[in-house]
Amino acid sequence: MPTITIVGGGVAGLALAATLDPADFDVTLIERNPGFGRVPTAFGIWPFALAALERIGLDGEVRRAGLPLTSGVISAGSTHRPVTMTSRSPGLWLLPRPSLLRVLDEAVPVGVVRERREVDDPTALDGDLVVAADGVRSVVRRRIWGDEPRDTGVVAVRGVLPTAPDGPQDRICEFWGDGALFGVGPNRLPEGIGTNWYASARRREESPEASLSWAREAFADFPEPVRATLGGADPMRTVVNTILESRHPRRLVRDRYVLVGDAAHAMSPNLGRGACEAMVDAITLGLALNEHGRDGLRRYERSRLRPGQRMRAASALARRIALSDRAGRVVVGAVGALGRHLPR
Ligand SMILES: Cc1cc2nc3c(=O)[nH]c(=O)nc-3n(C[C@H](O)[C@H](O)[C@H](O)COP(=O)(O)OP(=O)(O)OC[C@H]3O[C@@H](n4cnc5c(N)ncnc54)[C@H](O)[C@@H]3O)c2cc1C
Repeated sequence: MPTITIVGGGVAGLALAATLDPADFDVTLIERNPGFGRVPTAFGIWPFALAALERIGLDGEVRRAGLPLTSGVISAGSTHRPVTMTSRSPGLWLLPRPSLLRVLDEAVPVGVVRERREVDDPTALDGDLVVAADGVRSVVRRRIWGDEPRDTGVVAVRGVLPTAPDGPQDRICEFWGDGALFGVGPNRLPEGIGTNWYASARRREESPEASLSWAREAFADFPEPVRATLGGADPMRTVVNTILESRHPRRLVRDRYVLVGDAAHAMSPNLGRGACEAMVDAITLGLALNEHGRDGLRRYERSRLRPGQRMRAASALARRIALSDRAGRVVVGAVGALGRHLPR
């Protein structure tokens, strides 16, 4: 039976392991740090990703673990008057990352061999196929494709609060101004409805404590919901990420190596698409291999190379607009227009 080694057990690696038919492949999943994460920050899951999850029978569980979002408000410029209100959204769901990982993990067949270790040299791995699901700093991408992601110079600080945000529980609000962005919305935590928040700016702070004290100062002139959220934030429930973006790969497949998820197209988080694209990659690849064997690789590359790279470019544009010093009516309108042209 053909053997497949998956490097990385995040969203992409688990979705692929859950999709591959155990009657057709011997699968090994290598993850250096199994578990579902310390802070249950939320992902936005778009309809096109739910449609892919439906193909492996997991859309219902994802919906049950999440919250439907029906509207979004962006307030921009020095006055912070709301300038864009998206009308009733067609089915965006907010889901804590650990809940999504758990749903995918529980769908992995028992026959998949799990190894807990860090891969240093992908060329030493067994496997007729080696799938790089090892994220933005992919060791497979670096070694086989020979490139590194680009540092955008932007950080994202995000966290959760145990209490629900004020206002409707199906709405997310973003505040843009002076080269910084703050978002706040609901989150379905194990203890009940809480708050998910995120902040982004051209600023480098490594630790949650330092990031929080920077954010409280940087957002001191922002409206009350921003200040109240940051006032209640706890460093133990805060995470900080440097935002990196992949370079454009000409191919997703090289010899026996295949890129999926962030290893293929790590993107800025401004459109909330990275995990969705990662799941669609993984499910598309798994179904193509199940149906066509090795020929499925060509089908996968044909259907996923361009969409992933288009979304990476669109997300970079959205980041530059949202963090421009002149984020106001015109630029918010531009992002609204961009959003209307994205596949849902
Ligand atoms: C601030 C922020 C907000 C976001 N919001 C959203 C959102 O709302 N919606 C959305 O769709 N996406 C969002 N994303 C993007 C999303 O987090 C990523 O696109 C997604 O996690 C990519 O999944 P992946 O499986 O490709 O990589 P990862 O989730 O990074 O998983 C890679 C896995 O590989 C393992 N690994 C890495 N290297 C090795 C190695 N050498 N050996 C063994 N194991 C290894 C890691 O431990 C990890 O578990 C956001 C990202 C950020 C930073």
